[in-house]
Amino acid sequence: LADRLQSTVKKMTGKGKVSEQDVKEMTREVRLALLEADVNFKVVKDFVKRIKERAVGAEVMDSLTPGQQVIKIVKEELTDLMGGEQSKIAVSERPPTVIMMVGLQGAGKTTTSGKLANHLRKKHNRKPLLVAADVYRPAAIDQLQTVGKQLDIPVFSKGTEANPVDIANEAILHAKEEHLDYVIIDTAGRLHVDEHLMDELGQIKNNLTPDEIFLVVDAMTGQDAVNVAESFDDQLDLSGVVLTKLDGDTRGGAALSIKAVTQKPIKFAGMGEKLDELEAFHPERMASRILGMGDVLSLIEKAQDNVDETKAKELEQKMRSATFTFDDFLEQMEQVKSMGPMEDLLGMIPGANKMKGLKNVQFDDKQIVHVEAIVKSMTKAERQDPSLMNASRKKRIAKGSGRPVSEVNRLLKQFEEMKKMMKQMSGTQGGKKGKRKKG
Ligand code: GDP
Ligand code: MG
Repeated sequence: LADRLQSTVKKMTGKGKVSEQDVKEMTREVRLALLEADVNFKVVKDFVKRIKERAVGAEVMDSLTPGQQVIKIVKEELTDLMGGEQSKIAVSERPPTVIMMVGLQGAGKTTTSGKLANHLRKKHNRKPLLVAADVYRPAAIDQLQTVGKQLDIPVFSKGTEANPVDIANEAILHAKEEHLDYVIIDTAGRLHVDEHLMDELGQIKNNLTPDEIFLVVDAMTGQDAVNVAESFDDQLDLSGVVLTKLDGDTRGGAALSIKAVTQKPIKFAGMGEKLDELEAFHPERMASRILGMGDVLSLIEKAQDNVDETKAKELEQKMRSATFTFDDFLEQMEQVKSMGPMEDLLGMIPGANKMKGLKNVQFDDKQIVHVEAIVKSMTKAERQDPSLMNASRKKRIAKGSGRPVSEVNRLLKQFEEMKKMMKQMSGTQGGKKGKRKKG
């Protein structure tokens, strides 16, 4: 999806004038792109129709930058399609609030249960209880217990013999006694939607009347995710959806159509395997991401979570202005280290996914120490202007840092790629210049 839309967007960005033919061509591209991304056919049809109507309308034709305007419309409509931001979680008047997590096996229920508990505690100051109601696989219970241990959040379990409804009921009593205010029930999944699973989940639901029923879906599964969402919603009347594995190479189709098909909000996004990698789902950012403008906002937010605000602003400035030297690189390395894996960060930078060279940029976190050693072996002048480093200097730097010359060379190359990318990013974000180089 991204590739196709991005090339269309690129074409449109440079347009000083948009003809009806242009609009036609563009909506055709958008249509193909969405279908290619497995977006539900009907959703695509409606979507394209709205774009067309708006794009040939006065707001575009009379605008000074029609190309930009059309992109804005596509972005707005994409955002709309995915719904507003809705990361709110119910609060029961009579605690505990009960949240039931459902979904297919491997979707990320157990992980997301842990993430959600962590989120409730951290952001809402709540005391959650995790409940192991997946009684079919002993490993599933162990897994939740491990998650609980990692987070230091209690886990209620009764082994594999008890029935999930009883487990959940007892867990709620237990939560009341212990004054825990959220009960998160990790239920069993199957490889496919089947009757038995739905019956079991239906029973839990009828017995507990949970305040929230969240469907956990793997964003990587495309159109399948939409079908899964539809079945679960038919049976259980979901209250929301959590899309997991959005950190992966998703086609984006799932996010686009789940909301449109089920009318249920996508509340959170799983952005990695770690238990703090859960984010509120931001439709607008998702739309930008699909359009290839990158997820600068998320990046900045992430920076703010981990480093102080002035530092984060500086980082943003540097990245936008692309005046980035090895000194900045070094200085920020410390902060960046606390922001999580480099690859995640790069994924959020506009254009980064489009840079072929970047695929070879391996920012293995363990290597950061080595990178630091290398940069520290450069002279002040070299850090400002890497072109000063000739072969013999590179050898010296390698020696000084205790790393092979090949690694020094690689770092220099990576740094150039990064600068190139930042330049590209500032072009995209600045948005004033229509013209951009290809690639
Ligand atoms: P369950 O069977 O639905 O309980 O799924 P699990 O919670 O056991 O997750 C299945 C796999 O997906 C595990 O390896 C998780 O680490 C992984 N996983 C879950 N959420 C995410 C996510 O947001 N991103 C990534 N990359 N992996 C995830
Ligand atoms: Mg599980």
